[in-house]
Amino acid sequence: MSDQKLARPSSVRTGIGSLSRRRLAIGLSFVVLLVVVGAGCTTQQRVNTETALAQALISDEQMAQVGEQVHAELEDQGVRYVTNPEVVRYVTGVATRIFDLARQDRSGVEYHVHVIDDPKTVNAFATPGGHIYIYSGTLLAAENEAEMAGVLAHETGHVAGRHVERAMVDAYGMQELAAIALGDDPSGAKQIAASLVGTGVMRAHSRGEESEADEYGVRYISALNYDPTAMITFFQKLQAAESGTSLTPGWLRTHPVTAERISDLKSYIAANNLGGSVLGAERYRAIKAKL
Ligand SMILES: [Zn+2]
Repeated sequence: MSDQKLARPSSVRTGIGSLSRRRLAIGLSFVVLLVVVGAGCTTQQRVNTETALAQALISDEQMAQVGEQVHAELEDQGVRYVTNPEVVRYVTGVATRIFDLARQDRSGVEYHVHVIDDPKTVNAFATPGGHIYIYSGTLLAAENEAEMAGVLAHETGHVAGRHVERAMVDAYGMQELAAIALGDDPSGAKQIAASLVGTGVMRAHSRGEESEADEYGVRYISALNYDPTAMITFFQKLQAAESGTSLTPGWLRTHPVTAERISDLKSYIAANNLGGSVLGAERYRAIKAKL
């Protein structure tokens, strides 16, 4: 995808050790504060603590660097992207409108979308630095633009909700993140990227994170006047397709769809009066025909 190269931030090549010791000092005082505050806290509070911790220790610039490394690592591992300019333009166009909304929830991130050329896999994931990856198999499995938008918006919700940072704290713990923050380990970003691709990129998110990403996602697509129930119809389609097809519904493994999740989503749509009428089925069919 040629526009990825253009979108690559120039700060990427400046090295991971550029962070000041001041940030570490701020980060560490945060840690002390959080450890004190965190004693005897609930799961939700612990999750918030981890997010705050990640935020204190890793800047958006550093996350962007890790994200670029993850992208390079995926390419090294043979991941290829859809190059058809019409498909790329179409998906990027829908994603950009979602990203514009997400920026209101979380600024400082350069959001990117990449379409992986793999028609047999139904999956999507978010990586550090605001990179959303969606497989061409997902585009083929969706029936209309609203369903595709729902998947993109859900993944964008993982970025807006800082779930990716939380995953990094879970995976690496304080010490490694502190080493990156100090700049003592210049290859840290590369190592983390390699390991994220090996195990963590498609890590299953917690149920709480899934619900949160659903809520961000359905709010975004409704704000763009898409029918918000498209998110539910896509989930149901995946559940139905799970058995007896040649598709690999990896998205279900990392984003388990349960009856509870669907009913939560329905309640959220009703409680927040989320509406929207666009499905975009016809133009979507034309794009699918190019895959
Ligand atoms: Zn998810």
